[in-house]
Amino acid sequence: MKVTFAHMGNLYITVRALLEDLGAEVVVPPMPSKRTLSIGSRHSPEFACLPLKVNIGNYIEAMELGADTIAMAGGVGPCRFGLYGEVQKEILTALGYKFEMIIVEPPQGRLRHVLQQVGRLVGRNPVGRYVRAARLAWAKMTAVDELERLAQAARPFEGHRGAATAALASALELVDDAGSPARVKRALEEGREVLRAAREPGGGNSDPPRIGIVGEVYVVLEPFVNCEVERRLGEMGVLVERSIYIGDWVREHLLKDVLRLRKGRRPYELAKPYLCHFVGGHGVETVGSTVEYARQRFDGVIQLAPFTCMPEIVAQDVLPAVSRDLGIPVMTLVFDEHSSDAGVITRLEAFVDMVERSRRRRASRG
Ligand code: SF4
Repeated sequence: MKVTFAHMGNLYITVRALLEDLGAEVVVPPMPSKRTLSIGSRHSPEFACLPLKVNIGNYIEAMELGADTIAMAGGVGPCRFGLYGEVQKEILTALGYKFEMIIVEPPQGRLRHVLQQVGRLVGRNPVGRYVRAARLAWAKMTAVDELERLAQAARPFEGHRGAATAALASALELVDDAGSPARVKRALEEGREVLRAAREPGGGNSDPPRIGIVGEVYVVLEPFVNCEVERRLGEMGVLVERSIYIGDWVREHLLKDVLRLRKGRRPYELAKPYLCHFVGGHGVETVGSTVEYARQRFDGVIQLAPFTCMPEIVAQDVLPAVSRDLGIPVMTLVFDEHSSDAGVITRLEAFVDMVERSRRRRASRG
């Protein structure tokens, strides 16, 4: 059994560590590329969400490398995510691929159920091995999040363009190669060092504009589909923060679900005056996080959404009211298979320019 899964940013580092440590043979698909998107778009319904199309491309590219089992997260809720697994299975089967698809449904308090589904991927393992694998995966996941945050903080001050991104890539490689939590810790220390070295003392604007990124989790986390918004903003001298990191997502949507713990209410509380119903995906979080960034006096917010994403369309509808009430500029970028780097760069430059002007206006008013 050769297991594969879809990409979502650097999540592959954590998932590979977990599955391999539990004894599975893993085929990580090639990083998403134009080829991936073109294969996925060709074989998916036109109005399917962009993540589904890229996932199809990932699976086909992984099966070309010998994968025969697909692990996929299931979902519940008003948006289409809950149907993804079945739709993807139908598409790939109709194309003639022979594979098994294992959909790991949200735990909803049933740890045994999750272990059974993971067990289908990795075979039987003693509990101790699960604990060891989970510790390694956890160490890698938190290290990746920290390194990504450090890269975001370093980019506006980097010595030369691309230094922080190159440092991040080498730090992630060290974490990916580490075979134990102790080695991950050492890799993280080295990673911190290279990212620190990427910053030039006194380099960049000493008070860069701050922009928060909110939106649908896949598009926010996967740089290929968002045309590398985060890197591009950083290299324009912007201090970027995003509302979702892999660790937060796993804690909120997996761990708390397994343990039946109450999920963080803050984004819901903050969103309440504008959106008081769960709309699926991250719609409410998008609104709540925008309010949070406004309160933290960020200079702007960019919402990232896949074309036809229902929860983000709802959020996009109420964001102008948030922007008006709280005085924070908000821009929405919608991505599909026709999105281009050039179009995104133009819109980012215009937004950063506008944010800079409104900062100067605010500063001159005292
Ligand atoms: S959150 Fe949006 S992009 Fe994701 S599955 Fe739901 S509708 Fe599609």
